[in-house]
Amino acid sequence: MTPDTGPAVPRIGARRLAVIGGSVIGLACAWSAARTGLAAEVVIHEPDDSGPEGVPSSAAAWVAGGMLAPFSEAWPGEEAVFALGVDSLRRWPEMLSALEPYVPPGPPVRTATRTHMLAVDEADARDLDMAMEWAARQPDPTRDGPDSRPGSAVFPGSAVLQCSASHPGPGITEADLRRVTRRELREAEPSLARVARAAYRMDSEGAVDNRVLLAALTRACRAEGVRWVRSAVTSIDDVDADRIVLAAGSGSADLAGLPVRPVKGEVLRLRARPGCEDPPRGVVRAFVRGRPLYLVPRDGGLVVGATQYEHGDDRQVTVAGVRDLLADAETIFPGIGEYELAEAIAGLRPMSPDNLPFLGADPRDPRLIHATGHGRNGIALTPVTVAAVWAELHAVRGPAAARAAAPDRFTRG
Ligand SMILES: Cc1cc2nc3c(=O)[nH]c(=O)nc-3n(C[C@H](O)[C@H](O)[C@H](O)COP(=O)(O)OP(=O)(O)OC[C@H]3O[C@@H](n4cnc5c(N)ncnc54)[C@H](O)[C@@H]3O)c2cc1C
Repeated sequence: MTPDTGPAVPRIGARRLAVIGGSVIGLACAWSAARTGLAAEVVIHEPDDSGPEGVPSSAAAWVAGGMLAPFSEAWPGEEAVFALGVDSLRRWPEMLSALEPYVPPGPPVRTATRTHMLAVDEADARDLDMAMEWAARQPDPTRDGPDSRPGSAVFPGSAVLQCSASHPGPGITEADLRRVTRRELREAEPSLARVARAAYRMDSEGAVDNRVLLAALTRACRAEGVRWVRSAVTSIDDVDADRIVLAAGSGSADLAGLPVRPVKGEVLRLRARPGCEDPPRGVVRAFVRGRPLYLVPRDGGLVVGATQYEHGDDRQVTVAGVRDLLADAETIFPGIGEYELAEAIAGLRPMSPDNLPFLGADPRDPRLIHATGHGRNGIALTPVTVAAVWAELHAVRGPAAARAAAPDRFTRG
């Protein structure tokens, strides 16, 4: 992709930009800063290079399901979480197109372009109807047009910051969210068991392959000359840089005293074997026996997730976790028994107390920009996070939906 020939990006004189954490958020922020020529040098501090292409396989982003799910995660009272998620969802097409040249040979980044959300028993169906009716009434946070200076672009040539201008819709639409009949569900997802009491379809959601995404972002960073320092940062004061982006996931609490806690999640990766039933065509989410479940299609198989435990820094996969995931998945998708159980893995979601991340400048340290605490939705929230960090680095107005995620929201009077 050729660099932008439009108006010059305002520079803030950052000689050196350091990014702490080289997983999905850190890589995407480093890439965007490097390709807009903001700093003479962009350095990622990331100790873990154990995955393919040197991506961190201990990061939550390596474990994740990769769903882009603001509608299926919608819950009354979480207006700001919802608005941030919808804003980010609208930015994904532009980010994917800017990333295209860096996707390694093999499966694409985007693995599903829709989601079905099901409820299996009456109580869950009532909750699902209530949550979806609430979501359908929310305003579209991106309807007010571009949120930054005309001509500025996070990814030159693709204009991620401006994409909201191309979605000036009146609000949440039927393409985002609509109730479907059992028959419509059966036609769309014929391999599912007929257990749904209520079902909704979200045609703007879906999923990305988080591992392909990490590899593509790593390649994109390399192509822009980003450098890696392969050790953990123990104190922000030791980092030699004009500006620092904190993107250390659940490691951020120790570094910056933020209320980010690790919440463990287990997922299974299943590989299709000859003759087995095709996996669902899109993402399928459900409540089964009161537990949330998702099935996410992947090249040659699917991901089943996810458990959730407040167990601190525990990444071991438990027998009970695997048992529950398989039992619940089989209730929804009976063909699962013929699949190969290829991987069982656990990761730590970096959760905040209100399920919003921390986005923006630190009120006490002008060098520091927070981009952390993304909880269950860090993959989905990557584009809006990039836009918020980019705006902060360029001292321009960032996405309106990101204001609720100000880092000092728990401490200011
Ligand atoms: C089971 C599970 C399923 C999930 N499913 C989804 C999903 O479907 N959709 C979605 O949007 N999100 C999902 N998530 C959440 C998502 O993975 C996270 O929100 C996201 O990965 C956060 O990205 P991050 O880059 O901030 O942190 P991480 O991906 O956790 O990476 C943090 C990085 O910082 C590095 N680091 C830590 N401390 C330091 C230090 N002191 N110095 C230098 N580097 C450091 C680590 O090595 C690591 O590489 C899921 C998470 C889990 C665990």
